[in-house]
Amino acid sequence: MYLHGDDPTRSTGSPDIVLACVVVPSAAEGLNAPPYGSAFTILCGVTHPTSRGRIAPSGPGRNDAPVIDPHYLETEHDRATFRIALKRARMVGHHAALDEWRDAEILPGAPVQSDHELDAFIAGAASTHHHPAGTCRMGSDTDAVVDPDLRLNGFDNAFVVDASVMPAIPSGPINAAIVAIAETWAASSRD
Ligand SMILES: Cc1cc2nc3c(=O)[nH]c(=O)nc-3n(C[C@H](O)[C@H](O)[C@H](O)COP(=O)(O)OP(=O)(O)OC[C@H]3O[C@@H](n4cnc5c(N)ncnc54)[C@H](O)[C@@H]3O)c2cc1C
Repeated sequence: MYLHGDDPTRSTGSPDIVLACVVVPSAAEGLNAPPYGSAFTILCGVTHPTSRGRIAPSGPGRNDAPVIDPHYLETEHDRATFRIALKRARMVGHHAALDEWRDAEILPGAPVQSDHELDAFIAGAASTHHHPAGTCRMGSDTDAVVDPDLRLNGFDNAFVVDASVMPAIPSGPINAAIVAIAETWAASSRD
């Protein structure tokens, strides 16, 4: 469910939070998750984070692993939006429609209420949604990784055609947008 955190009934504009129901306990390492079969999870997240990660080579060799620093939750925008997403997840989880499926909230747990406590929980619980994008900046300047035709800067016939050229993350899962980028590029390169 992609929603507006301030008004989940609004259907226009770009949604800023996402909720997803998982029929098993799903919790980050280090959290005390209950055993399988004993709980469900309402996952929550931020669709347009403003924190910016960084990826860089760790050395000159082709087998040197990249250094990936996602910089999660660096901005107040992301922390505040995540708090709203968590509150909306709680609203769903505590809704009367789920009464017969729910006993008590296990994580973060009823005592966790203040913004400070919610931030601390989110900092320990947040993880990737598996949609890395935007690591190869497009532009016409010499520092850009690819030009507007997705040609790798400095090469005549090498192109980057994947999520890394996205200037911004779409609201939803990114695979469809990647296919659109690839099909558009393939069609234009045939012309
Ligand atoms: C667990 C998980 C769940 C996901 N669920 C969803 C979902 O439900 N919906 C959705 O829309 N998206 C989902 N995604 C995200 C989506 O799958 C990825 O964002 C998308 O596949 C990325 O596409 P891409 O073309 O940018 O990169 P990739 O699909 O990673 O393609 C890169 C390709 O390059 C190849 N490659 C790498 N290095 C080299 C090299 N040196 N030489 C030649 N080839 C190389 C790789 O083998 C790979 O085939 C999920 C991702 C994960 C990990």
